[in-house]
Amino acid sequence: MGFFILCSVTNPGTITQSNQESFLKAYGYDGVMFQKSTLCPTCNVEKPARSKHCSVCNNCVHRFDHHCVWVNNCIGAFNIRYFLVYLFTLTAMAANLAIITVAFLTKVVLLSNMMLGSYIDDQGQEHAVEILFLIQEKVTFA
Ligand SMILES: [Zn+2]
Ligand SMILES: [Zn+2]
Repeated sequence: MGFFILCSVTNPGTITQSNQESFLKAYGYDGVMFQKSTLCPTCNVEKPARSKHCSVCNNCVHRFDHHCVWVNNCIGAFNIRYFLVYLFTLTAMAANLAIITVAFLTKVVLLSNMMLGSYIDDQGQEHAVEILFLIQEKVTFA
């Protein structure tokens, strides 16, 4: 949660008329993707190398990565570290939930003694319950 909030509220590196000078010195122009003295047609600032205009936030962002709809903010030079930690902790949380769910379901199966039961199939044959029978889609107990 902390890294999600940090990622959402941190300025990703918005380029304005007043701070563009410092960003212009940060990286050299490659002359291919980033040309010197190019103005952003929308916000009218000189585009520093490795910057990009975000059409959602309507400003140019230093070292732009992408606009993230999940955190409702651009991911740029100043919040990408929070974004990466956020992704890592989010993945860890999802793995943790998956482990807890599997452990819980295993406990439910073991406590209910389901594995000790038996069932009669369409041909009238009796079978002991095995794990594939338990996890199949349509289980109807008589
Ligand atoms: Zn722009
Ligand atoms: Zn944006």
